[in-house]
This record gives sequence, C-alpha cells and structure tokens, in this order.
Amino acid sequence: MRALSLSPHTPDDVLERIEDKAPAFPRRADAVIIGGGIMGLSTAYYLAGAGLKVVVIEKDRVAGQQSGRNWGFVRTQYRDPAEMPLAVTALKLWRGLEAELGQPVGWRETGCLFAAADEAEYAAFAAWTRQVGDMAPTARLLDAAQTAALLPALSRPSAGALYTPDDGQAEPGQATSAYARAAAARGVQVLEDCGAVAIDVAGGRVTGVQTEHGLITAGIVICAAGAVSHDLLRPLSLVLPQKTVRNTVSLTTPAPPLSAACFCGFGIGLRQRADGSCIIAAESMSDVDVTLGSFRNLGFFLSSFLVNRHSFRLSVGRALVDELHALLVRPRAERLVEPRRPFLPPNEKRVEMIRDLLGQLFQGAGPVGIVKSWAGAIDVLPDALPVIDADTGVSGLIVATGFSGHGFGLGPAVGTTVAGLAQGRPPGFDLTPLRLDRFAKGTFGQPHAPL
Ligand SMILES: Cc1cc2nc3c(=O)[nH]c(=O)nc-3n(C[C@H](O)[C@H](O)[C@H](O)COP(=O)(O)OP(=O)(O)OC[C@H]3O[C@@H](n4cnc5c(N)ncnc54)[C@H](O)[C@@H]3O)c2cc1C
Repeated sequence: MRALSLSPHTPDDVLERIEDKAPAFPRRADAVIIGGGIMGLSTAYYLAGAGLKVVVIEKDRVAGQQSGRNWGFVRTQYRDPAEMPLAVTALKLWRGLEAELGQPVGWRETGCLFAAADEAEYAAFAAWTRQVGDMAPTARLLDAAQTAALLPALSRPSAGALYTPDDGQAEPGQATSAYARAAAARGVQVLEDCGAVAIDVAGGRVTGVQTEHGLITAGIVICAAGAVSHDLLRPLSLVLPQKTVRNTVSLTTPAPPLSAACFCGFGIGLRQRADGSCIIAAESMSDVDVTLGSFRNLGFFLSSFLVNRHSFRLSVGRALVDELHALLVRPRAERLVEPRRPFLPPNEKRVEMIRDLLGQLFQGAGPVGIVKSWAGAIDVLPDALPVIDADTGVSGLIVATGFSGHGFGLGPAVGTTVAGLAQGRPPGFDLTPLRLDRFAKGTFGQPHAPL
C-alpha cells in the first residue's frame, strides 16, 4: 500500500511523481470510496469540502484505468436525454475547474462536431436536437456548406453536422490527477495498491470495506470501481450486468490545424491538442474479449449487441485463458484485486487503419507519426447509461459506475451529485433512469447511440 503517487501516465507524460510516504492505515472513516478514477476522486474532493473524513482506496494507480486512458471529449452533444442534466452541470464546472482545483486540467472550450456521412445520420442528429430542445441551447445543425466552412481541412464532403460550440476537451490523466491532489490537500487519504475485497454489511447497512490491508469501518461506502464494480456488488445480491469493450487510442505527432472542435465522423474520433498532436481512435469500433462474464450477462446485452454488431470485433484469446487460470489458482478475494493492471493490448491493425483514415480525411495533415497507442477497457451497461444511486437497498451504499464510454466529461457533476447524495441531499434533477434496480426489474431501455 502506498499513499497517492502519480506515475507518468500512458497518454500524458506530464505528471510529477509524489514521493511515497508509508501512510498510517486508516481504521475508520466517514466515507470509503472504492476506485481512484475521476468518479471516486471528484466525489472525494467534494465530500471532503463538506468536512467528512474520506478515504479513497485504489487497487493500482490513480487514473490508471478509463479516467486516464480516454479520448478527452467533454460534451453535452448527442447524449442520451437522461444524462443531459448531469452533462450541462458538468460543463459549467469544467469551465471553472482549474481555478477550483488550483491545478491544470487541460480544459479548452473548443466545441464538439459530429459530421454526418449521409442523410440518415443527419436525420438522427436533427431528431436529437428536437428531443433535447432547451437542454442543449447552443447545439445546432450545420448544412454541408457550413460544415465545410468550419472545417476547411476536411477533404471529404459531409451531409452536414451537429455542432456544439461550448463543449470542450480536457486532458484525462491530468484532470483526474488534479482531483486526486486537490482531494489530498483537503485531507482525503488516497491509498494506492489498496484493493477492496468485500463491502461489509450488517442489518441492511454498510459497516465498512475489507481491503487487502485490513478493514476500514465507515457508514458510507461509495462503489466507483469502474469495470469491476459488479464483482464487488454481486456478494450483496445486487444485479449489475456490466461488460467491458477494449477501445484502442493513439497519440500522433503534431499536425497542422485539422479541427479545433472534438471531431467524430466517417469512422474516426479526433481531438487535436494545444500542441497540434492528435488523439485518434476508431469511432464506434471496439474489441470484445470473450470471457465467462460474456455468457453470464448475454441475456442483458444480446439485443443491443445484435443492433450494434458492426461496432464490435469478438476476440477469443488471452482474456479468457487468464480468467480461467485465475479461477483455478486464485481465491475469490484475490481475484477482486488481481490482475491489478489488466492486460489491455491496443489493436495494432486498428492503429494503422485509423492513421491512414486520418490522412485520407484530412489531406493537409501530411505524414502523421504515431507517438504511442494504448487501449482502455470501457465499462458498458446494457442501456449505455450509468448507475448513480444511493437507494441501492443497502443503507449507506452508493453506486456510481457503468459510464459506458462517456463518463469523463460528466466527472465533475458526478462528484458533486454523489457527494450530495452521501450527505442526504436530493440531486436537483431526476436520477430515476440511472437507478441500479432497473436491471433486476428489467425496466432498462436500449442505448441511445452506439458506443
Ligand atoms: C478508450 C476510452 C475512450 C473514452 N473516451 C471518452 C471521452 O472522450 N469522453 C468521455 O466523457 N468519456 C470517455 N470515456 C469514458 C470515461 O473514461 C469513463 O466513463 C470514466 O473515466 C469512468 O470513470 P470511473 O472513475 O468510473 O472508472 P475508472 O477510471 O475505470 O476508475 C475505476 C478505478 O477503480 C479501481 N478498482 C477496481 N477494482 C477495485 C478494487 N477492488 N479496489 C480498489 N480499486 C479498484 C480501478 O483500478 C480503477 O482505477 C472513454 C473511455 C475509454 C476507455
């Protein structure tokens, strides 16, 4: 176990390392938060601001999983209407976040643009603008000529675009680590290499968290353990059908200006950073590593999988072998912690394909080199909406997980919302669509858009 130590991170090599100090293991806290991603850390920061004694436990490194590996889009645009109140709140918080945390987060209000490849896509964007109405007051449809004028570097004609000028971007590792540092400055104990092995419950109430280093008693436990939250909740008989898909991302060498706005379209996702380098990835294309869990939750995912089957490539290989091996040799508690850093190889074919596509779509890009590539395991729920719920059936247990590939931008609002729930404050907007029991009751719907 080590105290907060920010290691150089996959996409961002800018994080200084904080020297390890052997921390005194906390036996008691007001709240224990499981997971050192943006959800756990932002919640910790706001809860500590309200005077609570908070401990965050992270089985590996802060920002080591999705929150440090994502594309960095911060958007209200084209979200499920159920997420819009959170997304709008988050956007306001992002604007003042560097001042609030006293650290860089890489925030830039560059807008977000989804180009329509054909009339059907344009019609879907138009339907979304009608559906969300005033919730997205600055989102607007652009025709083909307006799109071309806004994106002179785009070589391919579009059928128009959906554009939200006040969306933006941030640096994932930097922003998540900024929350970690700011939380630590408020007195939060952030423990790395400290995995949760069980959530303790007595008489219908949480009483604490068993970690690999001992028990921390607390009346509030927040499960923000990303892709493996379901493993922590299953022993409490809580149903969370969660799967992961592996998404490959690359960082390029600096290019001439291609798109100021975060861009999606024609099969590519592109975020051009302040120094001209680009984060690129396949739009709506991921690998699915088949595991035993894939079969366990098949019924929940089958219909959306069939609808979106062109967005996934099934891969049977090391993930399944590793899982079977772990089942044979590791006790259950150990399997909750190991592997601390799951094997997540980038899909090299997709790296090449997307680099070539970038060159075709933006011919002025010139020869673009790949600086590095990585993959992230996106935690997906059947309706591609997260769970944010304090009414879980276990008093004191709050769940914030399953952000289905678009949680980074929501992070600050999830933090304030969950911190409020932990103090018994109503959220100020309707969280009913994000309840945990929608899966046990079978009341969940279909995803609003492919991942
Ligand atoms: C490739 C990729 C691209 C994406 N692009 C975007 C984007 O552009 N915009 C956007 O809004 N979102 C995006 N997302 C989604 C976004 O990154 C996630 O929704 C968000 O980061 C989820 O945060 P989290 O804190 O819930 O999970 P995580 O960041 O995964 O954190 C969970 C943490 O819990 C820890 N943990 C797990 N088990 C235990 C245990 N037993 N004990 C202690 N700790 C444990 C893990 O090690 C991990 O660090 C993307 C995701 C990926 C992977």
